Amino acid sequence: MAIHERSLVEPERVLRKERLVIDGVDVSGDWNLVILPRVIEDYDLDFLDEVLKQPEGKTILQCYQCSYCTASCPVHNYWDERYNPRHFIYLARLGLIDELQKRADVIWRCVSCHKCTHRCPKGVLVEETLKAILKVMSKKGLIEEYPSKKFDTFFLEAVFEHGRIEDGELLFGWIEKQGYQVFKDPILKKPIPFLGGTPEWLKQLAVKPIKSMNIDFLILNAKHMLFHPKTKNWNKFKQVLRKVFDEEGVSLAH
Ligand code: SF4
Ligand code: SF4
Repeated sequence: MAIHERSLVEPERVLRKERLVIDGVDVSGDWNLVILPRVIEDYDLDFLDEVLKQPEGKTILQCYQCSYCTASCPVHNYWDERYNPRHFIYLARLGLIDELQKRADVIWRCVSCHKCTHRCPKGVLVEETLKAILKVMSKKGLIEEYPSKKFDTFFLEAVFEHGRIEDGELLFGWIEKQGYQVFKDPILKKPIPFLGGTPEWLKQLAVKPIKSMNIDFLILNAKHMLFHPKTKNWNKFKQVLRKVFDEEGVSLAH
């Protein structure tokens, strides 16, 4: 039988009397704590097998729940404590899909810094394992297409088209895709930075590094945004990639 964590025990199932004396014995507080049992119907016994079948999920069974990954994770520490890589692995191994679904709004927030993987004493490829869990959740219809996956696809499309990415074009293209109005020049139809509906947070984020950039580098970036350079012989390689994507069932806009 699975041993469940405290976070999985709903408060209404916890009985505890602050003052209780039975036959002269003081059993106040935690000494009388009782957890009412519940019937668990949300185990998905195939879930772990599915994760193990993913190339990214092969190391999930190596985890011994020490929590080094969570302690190292910037998303957990500085954004939202509900983002907890160790806990996601725990839930996936038990096949507790309802509990995973309850965390669907945070589970995709990994920023791929790999601190967790670097520090894991058991060699679990944590970031990859989380991707495998997301993949299986998505396959089983337990989660909508998650925002980071949408960005991954957008990124892949840019690489597929040109064989390389241009930061500015990628950034403004993504902003446009999010529904913001991006102002474009009338001839080449390229985005003109910071005109249109660029969100304020982005302006603040971008202006500081731009100010400290070398002028030659800025000119080069602007040139690349206008005339997106292509990797040499990219069209030939694109055909090979197209075949691989077809075989893998990856669909792109191009
Ligand atoms: S650091 Fe590794 S072993 Fe420890 S909980 Fe995270 S994945 Fe599991
Ligand atoms: S790779 Fe993802 S899960 Fe791992 S520490 Fe970084 S943000 Fe957290």
